[in-house]
Amino acid sequence: MADNDLLIVGAGISGLSMAHQAAVAGWNVLVLEQEHRVGGCLHSHRFTGAPDDFWLELGAHSAFNSYGSLLAMLDTLHALDQLRPRAKVGFRLFVDGAVHRIPSQLILSELLLAPFRMLGLIKTGRNIAEYYGYIVGPRNYAAVFEPAFSAVICQPASQFPADSLFNARPRRKDVPRSFTLQGGMQTVAGILAESPGVRVKFGQTVQDIQRDGGKWAVRTEYGAYTARALCLATPVAVAARLLRSRFPELAGHLAEIETAIVETVGVAVAKSQLNLPPLAGLIGRNAPFFSVVSRDTVPDPAYRGFTFHFRSGVLDEAGKRDCIAQALGLSAEGLASMHMISKINQLPALRVGHGERTQVVDGLLPGSQLALAGNYFTGIAIEDCVMRSRQELTRLQQEIG
Ligand SMILES: Cc1cc2nc3c(=O)[nH]c(=O)nc-3n(C[C@H](O)[C@H](O)[C@H](O)COP(=O)(O)OP(=O)(O)OC[C@H]3O[C@@H](n4cnc5c(N)ncnc54)[C@H](O)[C@@H]3O)c2cc1C
Repeated sequence: MADNDLLIVGAGISGLSMAHQAAVAGWNVLVLEQEHRVGGCLHSHRFTGAPDDFWLELGAHSAFNSYGSLLAMLDTLHALDQLRPRAKVGFRLFVDGAVHRIPSQLILSELLLAPFRMLGLIKTGRNIAEYYGYIVGPRNYAAVFEPAFSAVICQPASQFPADSLFNARPRRKDVPRSFTLQGGMQTVAGILAESPGVRVKFGQTVQDIQRDGGKWAVRTEYGAYTARALCLATPVAVAARLLRSRFPELAGHLAEIETAIVETVGVAVAKSQLNLPPLAGLIGRNAPFFSVVSRDTVPDPAYRGFTFHFRSGVLDEAGKRDCIAQALGLSAEGLASMHMISKINQLPALRVGHGERTQVVDGLLPGSQLALAGNYFTGIAIEDCVMRSRQELTRLQQEIG
């Protein structure tokens, strides 16, 4: 007999939302996580020592009132009172070393035709360059929209499928339109991990999975676990690697999905060191970073935080410090007093035709008691992940009862 009803590999939002929903359904659930914290891309770095109690986002920073599945879980857990509205501050463009307002970079004559160009234009089968470039015109696309889309998805946006971004969903009127939580987005993961019936084991890097006599056997450096059903809720490259020896066909399809690497650096700076106006962030054009995400949306009395999402392999450590100093307008004194934290993020680099690939993947799963959850199905947003986990749990429930 298996030790668990469901084993989940990965304690990001995909794994934890599946764990919470399975536990609500009465399943005995265990999550195995390689790190010593929950959240994956929900990563609110909390400084210890100076700057006291300050946090900044190294990954996701915003959720919206259109994230109905996420909100439904927080509602069930009586956690909606932890939502915090994000202050309305704007983005600016960082172009060739200087900060600009976005409207100053737009070519209005080219934009006039945009509403007409949208009529009847179909997103499916087109990439972002083809779809949005046509609507806003080539010069606006190059000057503002390509950098803005790249900033949103932290990777070059042009080849990304247009229908994998900005999915229209109903909005809840009883929560802020754009929100985070007290302590940042990682708090969502903490709430789910502590929800009744969910158990998470840390420091458990899953190295091998096997199907053995009708149950799943999973091995980490420190232990072996069995379960009736298994969910891989890891980045796609990890899922492909874990499936390679026993499920080569499935692994082969997953291995075709590319991964974008982002070199993320978060900095906390005393307010007194900065002259930059309050902003949501900077969008990089001809810059070594895709975006800078600011903590000004959740202002702190003493510090400001900025997270630079650098293009991979462009700058070394010293180059990143110089770039940060230039973008923030920091003096040598400000730079010396800055607190810095680095992380490597990874995201799927989706391409047109991705929908067909995931259909093939989904066609291989029924009857397997294996679920694949993550940000490499309909989209990379948190809500896409939660919806995928819910859909996969429904299938597993039909398979193992
Ligand atoms: C910089 C950045 C900004 C973003 N901003 C937003 C935003 O503002 N709003 C939004 O909606 N979305 C945003 N996203 C997207 C969203 O945050 C992610 O797509 C989503 O959080 C991914 O969740 P996940 O659980 O599928 O994967 P992950 O968060 O990657 O979690 C996977 C987990 O699996 C663990 N793991 C991996 N391998 C193993 C192994 N072998 N054994 C055990 N554990 C393993 C990892 O440690 C990790 O905890 C952003 C993403 C990034 C990177």
